[in-house]
Amino acid sequence: MVPGENSGSAGMIIDERYKVKAIFIGHLRFRCIAPVSDELRVRGQAFDRHWVFLPILTNPQRLFMLFAYAAKVGKCRPKRDRQSREAERTVKESGSMNKSKVYYSDFRTRLGVSQGAKLQKLIKKAGIGDIDFKGKFVAIKMHFGELGNFAYLRPNYVKAVADVIKELGGKPFLTDCNTLYPGSRKNAVDHLMNAEINGFNSVTTGCYIIIGDGLRGTDDVEVPVVNGEYCKTALIGRAVMDADIVISLSHFKGHESTGFGGAIKNLGMGCGSRAGKMNQHNDGTPQVDRDICRGCGRCTAECGSNAISYGDDRKAFIDPNICKGCGRCIGACAFDAISNINESAGEMLCCKMAEYTQAVCYGRPCFHISLIMDVSPNCDCHGENDAAILPDLGMLASFDPVALDQACVDLCQQAAPIRNSQLGDNLAKPDWHHHHDHFMDSNPNVHWKETLAHGEKIGLGTRQYELIVVK
Ligand code: SF4
Ligand code: SF4
Repeated sequence: MVPGENSGSAGMIIDERYKVKAIFIGHLRFRCIAPVSDELRVRGQAFDRHWVFLPILTNPQRLFMLFAYAAKVGKCRPKRDRQSREAERTVKESGSMNKSKVYYSDFRTRLGVSQGAKLQKLIKKAGIGDIDFKGKFVAIKMHFGELGNFAYLRPNYVKAVADVIKELGGKPFLTDCNTLYPGSRKNAVDHLMNAEINGFNSVTTGCYIIIGDGLRGTDDVEVPVVNGEYCKTALIGRAVMDADIVISLSHFKGHESTGFGGAIKNLGMGCGSRAGKMNQHNDGTPQVDRDICRGCGRCTAECGSNAISYGDDRKAFIDPNICKGCGRCIGACAFDAISNINESAGEMLCCKMAEYTQAVCYGRPCFHISLIMDVSPNCDCHGENDAAILPDLGMLASFDPVALDQACVDLCQQAAPIRNSQLGDNLAKPDWHHHHDHFMDSNPNVHWKETLAHGEKIGLGTRQYELIVVK
């Protein structure tokens, strides 16, 4: 009400944002409210803006008129007030536009509520249901854990996610690609057996496993990397690229090469075929350990480039001028005599991983889930898992893999290190160079920040996030 305008005995209750909640009119004329100061004047009397209350209307018709006027009243705020509100809204909206939402639940549960149910609630709140799953093939990318490693995610968590996808009409399958290095997951047969031994099967998870890059790790698709600086294309397992939708379900932990393993590691490195992993890991060719080689000739049969020859001692030799770096021979050797030794610099590895993730995710629906638990210092690719360096912190989900990894990193950095662990032992050393960074204090030669910075640079996501707690 503008001072000087006689409105008679008008009354209202105004909340802190000046929105009219209720109005009572005692006179015929009622025009508008236009507060020009921190107080509102009605009939010459000053009222606090938050509490203006005048005589009670008894006539129902007048009450009807009053509500009709309420909308008008709302539009009659002074100009400067509306402008400042609009400015506030713009700042708020631009701020939220630059931030991705990351949903978080800790591992606490009430009696009778399972962790699986809590995870399902989390991903539903995070908006997984916004994806149109109906009749679509859904790749759930995860890591089945190397034989001997006990830190990988339990199949129960996978089932919780797969059940939600099925509920939403999707056709989920579990997938991972073969490893570059010798081990228990270097071809599809060993890989599937490994997964079975570690508890992943159609009963425990509710879906089947398809190894992404086929029997020998060579079934891949060359995918353009949008905004790629180090990789113009990425070699991704065919089954991963054939899927309509990708769900990353990652065990968030430490990593000896990349600092931490989360969504970007799971997708970028994990979805690369053997040649794709080669591209990320090195700029050269694999080499043969002549002490181990038995001259069986198997690698030669595998090599499509005729890059392998033999000396008089019947030991294999890889010609770096001919080798294409596909890595097929590594998986072929039953004696683990061939390995990749020309590691890329750590920073470049992290950047390439982000670019491979871009290739996997670009142009199709993706959703990312990470569980910070059993935070081993190294990758689940190890045939062992050292004690956790940090406590179990919770489950997180987001549409943005960069924001999700950043949120997981931040939670980890805020947590207290576990004393009897690689991190705890390092920190307890009197001459330890303290990095004030749990991942670097666990594995000092890592460059984990590059992964997130480069992911942001190429448009994979943002490091700015809003953490939304789901109880
Ligand atoms: S497959 Fe292995 S053992 Fe056989 S020749 Fe090649 S490197 Fe040597
Ligand atoms: S990496 Fe590929 S091209 Fe090179 S030697 Fe091995 S199989 Fe042949």
